[in-house]
Amino acid sequence: MQKPNYYTELISKNIFDFKGKLLAECDKCNHLGYYPDEEHWQYSDCECMKTFSKCRKYIEAGIDQKNALIDKSYILGTFDKETINRINVYIRENLNCNMLFIPKNKKDWGSDIVAKYILRQFCSKYECMVVTMRSLISLFFSFDDEKYEGCADYLGNVDYLLIDSMGQEYNSKMKQDDSFAINSLNAFVAERTSRGKITFISCKFTKDMLHKTYSKDFVSILSDNFKVFPIGCSCEKADVFDDIELVGQKRITECFDTLELIRSKR
Ligand SMILES: [Zn+2]
Repeated sequence: MQKPNYYTELISKNIFDFKGKLLAECDKCNHLGYYPDEEHWQYSDCECMKTFSKCRKYIEAGIDQKNALIDKSYILGTFDKETINRINVYIRENLNCNMLFIPKNKKDWGSDIVAKYILRQFCSKYECMVVTMRSLISLFFSFDDEKYEGCADYLGNVDYLLIDSMGQEYNSKMKQDDSFAINSLNAFVAERTSRGKITFISCKFTKDMLHKTYSKDFVSILSDNFKVFPIGCSCEKADVFDDIELVGQKRITECFDTLELIRSKR
């Protein structure tokens, strides 16, 4: 599937630049955003504005286009060469499976960065998007809200989707088996898988924390549908908000050689 051009624009530019560009490039409406619909004696929204509205809606729903491409220099500055080589070899050999990235131990970090780096490898050929677990669950709950119409469907069809920051959503809704959130997520992942779409999840919880936080059903969904990659890290992350302080190169010590099912320890 070809990645639509406008997403590339959105990744690199802010939404208002993007609106201006859409208008500037559109001849149909003479750069106005609307055109006289003579048949109906009124003005109609032009396709360029419809595209803009759709993108704005996706952004408001928390579908993060900017994050879909992590900067390569960031990766090169964060991980050493050997680590990157190992990830690259892994990507070449295992292209088509759902992956769950978790920290190996409580203090380990980098699961989200590895997930984004892998996602990045597919961005030139496929449509790749990032959404946080929190935004995705919110979308399930706003299924009848016109404002977000089509957003969940859109995510269901993205070739490679990273569900980011699992553990920061409304956990209470995912503690009970058979809850609306769990059922929706299960159906969502199953539907994507049946369409041949790949789903990645990055999570800040270790295996033990997953079991303590989520319902049995949810852990089953994960272990049945995802290969789990506990990411170990030999260097501690500096305690700076969301950003990482780049002090020397960090090394992921146990990236892909500890393949195991999260269920196995129980
Ligand atoms: Zn137009």
